[in-house]
Amino acid sequence: APAIAIRRLCKSYGQTEVLHGIDLEIARGATTCLIGPSGSGKSTLLRCIAFLEEATSGTILVNGQPLGFEEQADGRRRRLPQARIREVRSGIGMVFQQFNLWPHMTALGNVTEALVTVQGLSRREAGERGMAQLRRVGLEARARHYPSELSGGQQQRVAIARALALEPKILLFDEPTASLDPELTGEVLNVMRDLGDEGMTMVVVTHEIGFAATVGQRIVFLDHGRVLLNGPPAELFAPP
Ligand code: ADP
Ligand code: ADP
Repeated sequence: APAIAIRRLCKSYGQTEVLHGIDLEIARGATTCLIGPSGSGKSTLLRCIAFLEEATSGTILVNGQPLGFEEQADGRRRRLPQARIREVRSGIGMVFQQFNLWPHMTALGNVTEALVTVQGLSRREAGERGMAQLRRVGLEARARHYPSELSGGQQQRVAIARALALEPKILLFDEPTASLDPELTGEVLNVMRDLGDEGMTMVVVTHEIGFAATVGQRIVFLDHGRVLLNGPPAELFAPP
């Protein structure tokens, strides 16, 4: 089964429909890059997968489990109980364009906060897990630094470590390098490439075509709220 199965997904804001019946399967253990013009609905689709937005109709299955809504025999959607929604969502991590770190917490504090407050780990366990994730993104030596003392690339790597610490099965990235200076983009893309090599399932909204072509195993091109192309990069980026 795919990691994510999206069926006839529609999303409207008020009277305006911005996703028009998306059908899409996201392969397990692969990196899928979501590309397309500004305003085509990439971010909205990603936010629906993260359940930060509720789709207007259609369904999303995560590892075979319905996310948020379940389709019934009569075709109508039923909202799932909050506990089940939370359980399915907990398998999904997200990294944003703006790193969204807490400025008053150190790098390690940012990574461990949810481990203590949400998962109920002891400070010690959380610290160990947090340090392991900072090591994974090459920032062990920066654990005691505050975000303002870190470069943008380092801040984004802390945000990735924070997402990883919650042990997601799927990681979503919404233009993770778009607010970085070009010289800092590479260090973030390298961390993402390593995660891909480790077999993490990732969906990446990006304008970095070089990254999509070399790291993406699947390219999905969205235009005006529809999937226009969906295939391996060699097929999509091949010269005519
Ligand atoms: P992309 O990520 O491809 O740039 P978005 O998903 O951000 O596209 O936006 C798709 C469309 O939905 C755009 O026309 C945008 O203006 C609109 N949109 C996005 N978020 C909202 C919102 N919260 N309220 C109203 N319209 C929105
Ligand atoms: P992105 O392309 O990454 O979604 P935007 O700058 O388009 O970034 O959107 C930033 C925020 O504003 C998002 O939360 C998005 O949902 C919201 N947004 C985008 N377009 C609109 C809109 N037309 N009306 C209201 N909110 C919007």
